[in-house]
Amino acid sequence: MLFLIQNVYNSRRVKMQNDEVLTLEEYLNLVRANPNLVKTAHKRVYDAIIKKGYKTVSAKDDPRLAKILGLKNGDPVTVYNLFENHYGLEREIENIVGYFRAASLGGESSRLFLFLVGPPGSGKSSIVRTLYWALHGEEIYHIDGCPIREEPLNAFPRAYRKELEEKHKIVLSEWADLCPVCRHRLKTEFNSD
Ligand SMILES: [Zn+2]
Repeated sequence: MLFLIQNVYNSRRVKMQNDEVLTLEEYLNLVRANPNLVKTAHKRVYDAIIKKGYKTVSAKDDPRLAKILGLKNGDPVTVYNLFENHYGLEREIENIVGYFRAASLGGESSRLFLFLVGPPGSGKSSIVRTLYWALHGEEIYHIDGCPIREEPLNAFPRAYRKELEEKHKIVLSEWADLCPVCRHRLKTEFNSD
């Protein structure tokens, strides 16, 4: 690849969860072998939820849950296995999963924040903890030193993304861009635009 960022290739570092540091070129090779490594945060969370499985529960499957949720016949609820310890919050969890599903597809919801609102003890923190543990052990790569741990491929300038797409079949989101901190480091530490 004819890259203005050749020096960045050699000096810019990306970091593995176990603190192993790779160059961007090494990371690109990993992605070529396993394109699944590149995911937005929303997609990563959504996949972690779906990976654990889910089922549709109707009033006759679980009369107790039907009573709690006010389920009527023909009004099923989706129960996600990851949240099996959050009995009674199935409707709220459906909404949360719906948010991650829509955001993972790159729509407008991916630019919205998710706020959990409710009285103390209503399960907000435990839902977040469950999501945290669902991601535990995932192989996640990010730019070393980036405050938002962004996707290393964001370091590719827009001018080279077509080449990335055609040559390596890697398509970045149209919003994928370096955060201000990384942009500043690119200019000051690596002397590159
Ligand atoms: Zn950054």
